[in-house]
Amino acid sequence: MAHGKPVVGFIGLGIMGQPMARNLLKAGFGLVVYTRTRRKANGLLAEGALWADCPAAVARQAPMVITMVPDSPDVEQVVLGPQGIIEGVRPGGVVIDMSTVSPRVERAIAQQLATRGVAYMDAPVSGGSWGAIQGTLAIMVGGEEDAFRRVLPIFEVMGKSITYMGPSGAGQVTKLVNQVLVAVTLSGVAEALVFGAKAGADLLKTIEAVKGGAAGSWQLANLGPRIVKGDFAPGFMITLQLKDLRLILEMAEELALSLPLTALVAQLYRAAVVDGKGECGTQAVVTVLERLAGVEARQGSA
Ligand code: NAP
Repeated sequence: MAHGKPVVGFIGLGIMGQPMARNLLKAGFGLVVYTRTRRKANGLLAEGALWADCPAAVARQAPMVITMVPDSPDVEQVVLGPQGIIEGVRPGGVVIDMSTVSPRVERAIAQQLATRGVAYMDAPVSGGSWGAIQGTLAIMVGGEEDAFRRVLPIFEVMGKSITYMGPSGAGQVTKLVNQVLVAVTLSGVAEALVFGAKAGADLLKTIEAVKGGAAGSWQLANLGPRIVKGDFAPGFMITLQLKDLRLILEMAEELALSLPLTALVAQLYRAAVVDGKGECGTQAVVTVLERLAGVEARQGSA
């Protein structure tokens, strides 16, 4: 317990998890952490977090546990698997999954934990690694509303826009809508820059000229300049975007729904993975379009 605030458990210290956990520590929460690759916790341990050897050990020490791991099987393993949270959590505890995973999987986990008197929230985020560092994430939450009210002070440390969306799974459905918007928009940004490059436009100046108008978007303003500079370092990895597109298309299949733009864009991201760019940032999707057009969208390349 630090400054009277409860101890929070945090599992999964990658690009997003590390800065989110750091903000909790800075806000005075006690912090117990576990992640698959222990060295990724070194920075936080030096700043005062405590290490636990498995998710169950985290849950024994913290009434509220956050998970931030890649995909649905990872959340299932961390929560329900051997030495998982379920083995350590006490009745009255709250488990909050902030990863982007399948709404169906979230509902199933919530049902299992409910039989132990434990609340489970799905609370995926948007805003990228920068938003995680700044504590300005958009957080979309599904689960029991009274549990939401209990954990709101934690969300307020990590995010700026916090929305309770409804019952279990509703947060993930919202996030998948977000991901259709993000993936389709970024592909449009990339295609526009490839066109501009071939047509002889000054790309950075073009972005400045149009970003405040009707074509403006977070993707254009933040990732457009990185594309032009050839900066493909990951904020959000191509493999994770492809995972989200898979989740959307799986759900569309269940709903017997045609999503032609999402399906097309998924193929572009897959081509980038095939080309060895899976661990690049999503802006590297431009390289697929560049190959089709035979031109690079770099400043000075026109
Ligand atoms: P990441 O950098 O790959 O981090 C995931 C972390 O989880 C890694 O440290 C990984 O360990 C750890 N992990 C994986 N399986 C584990 C397990 N079974 N037990 C314990 N730890 C485990 O990914 P990220 O970018 O932080 O993304 C995390 C989630 O947030 C994903 O669902 C993603 O879609 C979502 N998201 C990401 C962004 C973004 O901009 N990056 C934005 C919004 C949402 P290792 O180090 O051993 O791999």
